[in-house]
Amino acid sequence: MAKLNRDSLRKSVLDMSAYTPGEQPQEGSIIKLNTNENPYAPSPKVVDAIKNALTSDRLRKYPDPLGTKFKIAAGNALGIDPDSILIGNGSDDILTILTRAFVPESGLMASATPSYLLYKTLAAIQNARIELVPFTANWQLPPVWPFPEANLTFLANPNSPSGTMVEATEIDRLAQSLKGPLVIDEAYGDFARHNSIGRFQNGAQPEGIIITRTMSKSYALAGIRFGFAVAHPSLVRELIKVKDSYNCDVLSLEAATAAISDQAYLKECIAKIITTRTRLHLELGKLGFKVTPSEANFLWCTHEKHSPDFLYLELKKANILVRLMKYPGHEGIRITIGSDPEIDLLLQALRKLV
Ligand SMILES: *Cc1c(COP(=O)(O)O)cnc(C)c1O
Repeated sequence: MAKLNRDSLRKSVLDMSAYTPGEQPQEGSIIKLNTNENPYAPSPKVVDAIKNALTSDRLRKYPDPLGTKFKIAAGNALGIDPDSILIGNGSDDILTILTRAFVPESGLMASATPSYLLYKTLAAIQNARIELVPFTANWQLPPVWPFPEANLTFLANPNSPSGTMVEATEIDRLAQSLKGPLVIDEAYGDFARHNSIGRFQNGAQPEGIIITRTMSKSYALAGIRFGFAVAHPSLVRELIKVKDSYNCDVLSLEAATAAISDQAYLKECIAKIITTRTRLHLELGKLGFKVTPSEANFLWCTHEKHSPDFLYLELKKANILVRLMKYPGHEGIRITIGSDPEIDLLLQALRKLV
């Protein structure tokens, strides 16, 4: 019989380091500005939908494996073909499905850097190589993308941790140069001036581009775990083969359907967050911070006098959690846009520190 020990694991798993998510303290009165959660409650219609689904008959049975009701609601809300939508257990699930579907053993993945760290973890699990291409000094793509042959290329837009965006013409230029698909990770797309969903509107069905979206940030449903991809319907049919049959449960499907159907609530929430973002950016500037202009629900900053480590640790002592992030050549803190009272407390704490 095989020995159940570490030696039985695939070498790529033994060799990789785990993805480290932001801290998730489960108790205490902490102001949590570290993982870009929404400070506002989800739409009240979400809670109603979950309550209505809480019947023993719904829980007894498997969910709809394709999430048909969600796809129709999302198609309506976004003006796209429901058949171009693939449901996921968070958009991280979607990113995993895409990696499994497109990247062979020892294949090649690429992304810009600094960006979302999970792409690197997905490559390690797949035993693929990943090439991280530095953004230019003002967070744009290099004039020539050096890895057109990649099996899969990720671009977070808006990007994390910077909150910056690459314009549509630059995305076109990148997509046209690639042999494999371009995944535009729009986890923060709802907060930005523009996004790529328009590429799939009015019956358009572009090939070579896959957009990923999450309900965790703009829809305030990080606890529910729901995300989706928008891609050519023929591609969605193939990706369905790779996903777990029941990757989304009854309650998350109901919640996501109600949330995406309430676009008025979404817009209200986003408007509040953008107003707070503008205010925080201004106030941080007055305190000696260098803040990168953001199109997302967070700000990336450094301080002229104090190190990111110092700021992170001192804020933590004051029960305020921000994300300390270190990349080669880039170190800073990423601050999620909280509610106005939370941001007031953050500013109070910072005024004492700097
Ligand atoms: C938060 C985030 C995700 C993941 O979202 P989930 O749906 O919660 O898995 C994906 N990409 C980026 C860039 C993110 O910041």
